[in-house]
Amino acid sequence: MVNAYAPTNLQGALDALSSERLIPYAGGTDLMVKERHAAPFLFLNRIEELRRLTEDAEHLRIGAALTYRELLRHPLAPPILKEAVSSIAAPAVRNTGTLGGNVANASPKGDGALVCFVADSLVRLVGAGGAERVLPIAEFYEGRGRTVLRPDELLVEILMPKRWLAGYRYCKVGARKALAISRVSFAGLYAAEDGVVAHVAMAFGAVEDVVVRRPELDRLLVGRTLDEARALKEEVLAAWDKALVPLKGRVPAEYRKRVCLNLARDFLEGSLGT
Ligand SMILES: Cc1cc2nc3c(=O)[nH]c(=O)nc-3n(C[C@H](O)[C@H](O)[C@H](O)COP(=O)(O)OP(=O)(O)OC[C@H]3O[C@@H](n4cnc5c(N)ncnc54)[C@H](O)[C@@H]3O)c2cc1C
Repeated sequence: MVNAYAPTNLQGALDALSSERLIPYAGGTDLMVKERHAAPFLFLNRIEELRRLTEDAEHLRIGAALTYRELLRHPLAPPILKEAVSSIAAPAVRNTGTLGGNVANASPKGDGALVCFVADSLVRLVGAGGAERVLPIAEFYEGRGRTVLRPDELLVEILMPKRWLAGYRYCKVGARKALAISRVSFAGLYAAEDGVVAHVAMAFGAVEDVVVRRPELDRLLVGRTLDEARALKEEVLAAWDKALVPLKGRVPAEYRKRVCLNLARDFLEGSLGT
C-alpha cells in the first residue's frame, strides 16, 4: 500500500481510486482537523481538469478542486459565490480550501454549498472507467456528512445555472464578523420581468442536516404580478415557518428559526417592495 497518490490528470486519479480505497484530498482544510484517516490520500490539487472554471450556454462549470482564492479572482465567478466565499475562514484557509471540498464534506453549514443549493446546481460525478452521473445537488446528499458518492467516484464539477444569479441576497449569521462558522445562513435569488415575478429561490444553511431548499414554496410567487406576490408574502412565510424544523444545537433551535424567517422576510420585502 502506498501512503498517498498525487496524480496529474483525472484518468490517473480514477485509476488509483479503482485499485484501492483512497480518500480524496482537495485542500485538506476539513480533512486535516480530523484525527484519524482510514485510507491513504488521493491528492487532487495537481489535476488540471479539476481546477478550471468554464461556462457553456446554461451553466458555469466549476472544477471541484479550484481553490477559493482562485474562485475569488476569476472573472466568471458570480458575485453571490464570491460573497459567500469571502465569508469563509481566513486567507490561509481560502488559499487551499475548495468549493468541491465544501460540497463533498456535506456539512449543512457549508457556505459555498449553500450557494450551490440556491442556484439549483448539478454535480458531475465520474467513476471508474469514466462512468458519469450528473445529479441535482439535493440528490447528492443522504444526510449530514453523507453523500451518494461511491468509493470509486470523484466529484469533478459543479454545474451552476447562470440564468438567475444576478439578483441575490447572501447572509451569514455567525458569532463574529470574521472566522465564524454559520449559526444560520441564507441565500436568495430573485428576478422580475415586466412586473411579474420570474424567479424566486431561497436556501437556508445550518438549520437541518442538509441545506434546506424547497422550490415548491418559492414557486408560489412565480408568475404573479408584484402586487399579487406582495399579497401572498405572508402565506409564503407561514409555509416556511412550517417547513423549517431546526435541529437542536448549541444555538437554540427557536432562535435559529426566528432568524431564518426574519432573513426570508427581509429578502422578500427587499425584492418585492413592502
Ligand atoms: C479554520 C477553519 C475555518 C473554516 N471556516 C469555514 C467557513 O467559514 N465556512 C465553511 O463553509 N467552511 C469552513 N471551513 C471548512 C472548510 O474550509 C471548507 O469546508 C472547505 O471548502 C473544504 O474544502 P477542502 O478543499 O479543504 O476539502 P478537503 O478537506 O480536502 O475535503 C473535504 C471532504 O470532501 C472530500 N472531497 C474533497 N474533494 C473531493 C472531490 N473532488 N471528490 C470527492 N470527494 C472530495 C474529502 O475526501 C473530504 O471528505 C473552515 C475550516 C477551517 C480549518
